[in-house]
This record gives sequence, C-alpha cells and structure tokens, in this order.
Amino acid sequence: MTPEMTSSFLLMTFAICTLIIAVGPSELLRIGAIDVDGHFTFKPSDLASVSSDFGMLKSPEEPLAVLHPSSAEDVARLIRTAYGSATAFPVSARGHGHSINGQASTGRNGVVVEMSHRNIGTPEPLVEPEEMYVDVWGGELWVDVLKKTLEHGLAPKSWTDYLYLSVGGTLSNAGISGQAFHHGPQISNVLELDVVTGRGEVMRCSEEENTRLFHGVLGGLGQFGIITRARISLEPAPQRVRWIRVLYSSFEVFTEDQEYLISMHGQSKFDYVEGFVIVDEGLVNNWRSSFFSPRNPVKISSVSSNGSVLYCLEITKNYHESESDTVDQEVEILMKKLNFIPTSVFTTDLQYVDFLDRVHKAELKLRSKNLWEVPHPWLNLFVPKSRISDFDKGVFKGILGNKTSGPILIYPMNKDKWDERSSAVTPDEEVFYLVALLRSALSDGEETQKLEYLKDQNRRILEFCEQAKINVKQYLPHHATQEEWVAHYGDKWDQFRSMKAEFDPRHILATGQKIFQNPSLALFRPSSSSSSASW
Ligand code: FAD
Repeated sequence: MTPEMTSSFLLMTFAICTLIIAVGPSELLRIGAIDVDGHFTFKPSDLASVSSDFGMLKSPEEPLAVLHPSSAEDVARLIRTAYGSATAFPVSARGHGHSINGQASTGRNGVVVEMSHRNIGTPEPLVEPEEMYVDVWGGELWVDVLKKTLEHGLAPKSWTDYLYLSVGGTLSNAGISGQAFHHGPQISNVLELDVVTGRGEVMRCSEEENTRLFHGVLGGLGQFGIITRARISLEPAPQRVRWIRVLYSSFEVFTEDQEYLISMHGQSKFDYVEGFVIVDEGLVNNWRSSFFSPRNPVKISSVSSNGSVLYCLEITKNYHESESDTVDQEVEILMKKLNFIPTSVFTTDLQYVDFLDRVHKAELKLRSKNLWEVPHPWLNLFVPKSRISDFDKGVFKGILGNKTSGPILIYPMNKDKWDERSSAVTPDEEVFYLVALLRSALSDGEETQKLEYLKDQNRRILEFCEQAKINVKQYLPHHATQEEWVAHYGDKWDQFRSMKAEFDPRHILATGQKIFQNPSLALFRPSSSSSSASW
C-alpha cells in the first residue's frame, strides 16, 4: 500500500467509526457500501467546506460525510438508506451554500449532498429551442443556465439579482428580482421537476403529474424532496439593456411610481423594477452602487434635503440591437409618467448578460478587499402594500438611524403572479414589497457595523412590525420555534405538515431549516402516507 492509500484507508476507517458511534453500525456500513456512480467523501477539508454558509452566523458543524452525486439515482440510494435505517439520519441538499442561517446543513450526524459540484455524469443543461425550455440538473448554477441558453438566443424569464445560486436552492425559496412583477418569481416559471422524496423515490412532477408534490416542492424549503432536474421556461433573450436610476426624496411619490410601473400591462413597459433606500452617503460607495461612479458621480447632498432618507428607483428597458434607434424614445415616453427628482437621472447601457451578472462584479471587488467572507446578518421581509409607509417611518427613518452597513432593497410585486398552490408564503394583499436588508458585519468597524449590533437591529425591526401589527412574512425564512413556523405558514400550515408526513415521514430532509423535529425522534410510520407528522 502506498502512503497515500494508507492515509485514505485510515481516514475512511476513522470516518466509519465516527459514523458508527453517531448513527449506528448498520447505517454507516451501509453508507460506506452504497454503490453510487458519484462518490462519498469523508475528508476533513471536504467536510469543512460544507459546514458553514454565506451568512457565517453559526459555528461551523461538519457533517459525517458528503455525497457528490452523479445522478438522481445516487441521491435516491442515499435517501433510501437513511429512510430504511433504524435510526434515521439527516440528508440535506446543498446548492451553493448561500443561505444565511445554516439552512443547508445537517448537523454532525448527517450527510450533505453537494449538488453544485459538477461530477462525471451530472447532466449538462439541455435546451429545447422549439419548445422554449431548458432541462437542468438541480445543482446547476443560474449563471451556467444562462450561458447555455444564450447559445440558442434564449434565456429564462425570471431571475435573482445574483446568478451564482443553484436552481434547486432558489426554487426551494422562490427566486425573485426586478422581473418578478411581470413574470412572477422563478417558481412561477417551472414546467416540470424530478424530485427524490424523503422515502427515496424518484418522482416526476408537473402541473399534470403528481401535482401536489410539484407545487409543494416549489418554495418548499427542501422539506419534501431534493430537486434533481428542473424544466425551466424560456423566452427570446434580449441583447442589450438600458439601465436607469432616478432618485426621490418623498417615500409616497417613490412607492406611487413603483406601484404604477408594476401595474402596467401590454407591450410598452419597463422590464425590471427594483429600488433601494439611501439612508447614508456610505451607500454610494457600497457594492450595489458602483453604477453611480466613476462616469456618473453622484453627490447625495446635491439632491438630498437635510441629509434625509432618499429612495432610488431602478428600472431597465431590454432591447434588441435592431431597436437601438427607438429605445431612447420609448424610455422617454415611459419616464414622462414618473415623478422623480428631475436632476437625478443616471443612465447606462450594457449587454443583457452583463446586466444579469452585475452582482458578481461587485463580489469580485469585495473579495479582493476581503469583505465578502464576513458575517451577513441579512433580513428579507415581504411587507404588505397597505403598511409600507408605516414600515418606512418606523424602520428606514427610525430604527436604522443613518447607518446601514449594506444595501437596502425595496420593490413591489403582484401577488397574482405567484401560484397560491406553491409552498412559498406571501402577505395577504394584491401588492406586497420585498424589503431586503443586506448587511455585512465587520469585526473591526464602528459599533454600528458589528454583528451583535446588526442582529439586535434585526430583532428590533421584527419586534416593531409585531407591535405595529404589520403582517410581514420573512423571505428566506428563519424561525426559532414551531409556534413561529406555524404562524409563518398560517393557512398553509396544515397542508405543509401533511405533505411532510407524506413525502418525508422520517424528517430526513433539509433539517437545517429547523421546521420539523430531528429525524431520529420522528415517528416512523413507513406504511402511512397521509398521517400527520408528530413534532
Ligand atoms: P443553499 O443555501 O445551498 O440551500 C438553500 C436551501 O435549499 C437548503 O435548505 C437546502 O437544503 C435546499 N436545497 C438546495 N438545493 C436543493 C435541491 N436541489 N433540492 C431541494 N432543496 C435544495 N434570492 C432571491 O430570491 N433573489 C435574489 O436576488 C437573491 N440574491 C442573492 C444574492 C446573494 C449575494 C446571496 C448570497 C443570496 C441571494 N439570494 C437571493 C438568496 C438565495 O436565493 C438563497 O441563498 C438560496 O438558498 C439559494 O442559494 P443556494 O443555491 O446556495 O442554496
């Protein structure tokens, strides 16, 4: 045996012993013996690499093993082992690890399925230009989906602001950006899924087939199955984007314009509507705002009244190069209806792919300054339109003071573009806003940039909403107790719980979301498909 083989053998033996202690001998020996086309790894560096996430808010917890699957069948074999073993152990899909609160982790006695690592055998995106869809592996990153579909002059319709997220990860939440007002979230643009349930069955589902599972998995926080394939609807890809930012000092005028823009139907409208809040000049220099410089330097003091809060509307018009003569005129007509500060128009023009991939450029900049891998106590809320003004007064002009530590996005969406049958939860109003407080904590910064300060501010924001009875719903939700989860799901809870009992009765999947109790404590009723989970 070579020294390398000896050390691999010792590592494997050590890992197996650890597993035996944690999950029982039969399970572990079975994990080691599961015949997969991909591979399991027990190497400390591999375990460490999946033990924390973008949030960096929790102490890293290494799983027992990591599976690099090559196929849905690999995932199914692992889950069948977990499901059939005496003491079930957790199995979590990990997309690109961009969760904030450990949602993709399993804790110490689970197995993480690394979906985003390309293995020999993992299918490449397959575009069907005639049918206008693409079939993708669940761990595919959106940026790669885009590259592939652009080869056919096509692109998905609904996006996230950042493309280095996995398809399965965003579809487990919703996947939103400035196109959502028109196309709905990403979960509204899926035609079919292959899912490995918590029983280890590979199930195809769509609007026509296994409908309950299809809708349940979309926005389902990974609770009912691991998405191994998604069929995503496409449209002809625009070539260029006219990207415009304008400022407002009145929140009422700003939201009136945003709501007007998302109410527009027909051909002539903007393609993307977002916005953000500027509570301090620092924002101009932060990662979302490189737009303003160096060719468009903006002095906030030149448009702000007494350093008060400003609001920036961000809109785009997509176009084909053949339309470059008419795009100016079209934009001008659309903007005539808006009431922004006239001197505050900032415009740029770029390729569609560069617009979609804009946050990655900011990522590279932050990485070069060691400011990417820092804790991110992000808070994302859906706020009903009827209370957004109260939220502005209480949070933007109140709790935040004049320091933000990161961008604060705000944009409205139309509820009728969300399928009520999905598991995603939104407020009970026709129009609601996303408010995303995307803060980074610095250990050596000012007091207001420290993690504890920002976490406390998040707590105060949620407390304020509760006291003011603003019925917000968390997006990318994180709740500490079952009572909070039940309140989060509201009318959808009974359905959500019964789906869990049907598709993951042993509570094996996505335990990092902490919605249901630990698998080893879950009641084992293998023959029952409709009983309620006990928690
Ligand atoms: P992970 O964090 O790895 O997983 C998230 C959850 O999904 C876990 O519970 C995991 O077990 C489960 N999961 C992962 N893969 C699968 C699968 N194949 N099948 C079933 N369950 C699975 N979100 C938006 O909607 N819009 C945005 O504009 C946006 N911008 C972002 C920008 C940045 C810089 C970051 C860090 C995040 C952003 N997000 C945005 C949030 C993002 O959607 C979530 O982090 C989401 O979880 C996707 O990340 P991921 O693919 O890394 O999934």
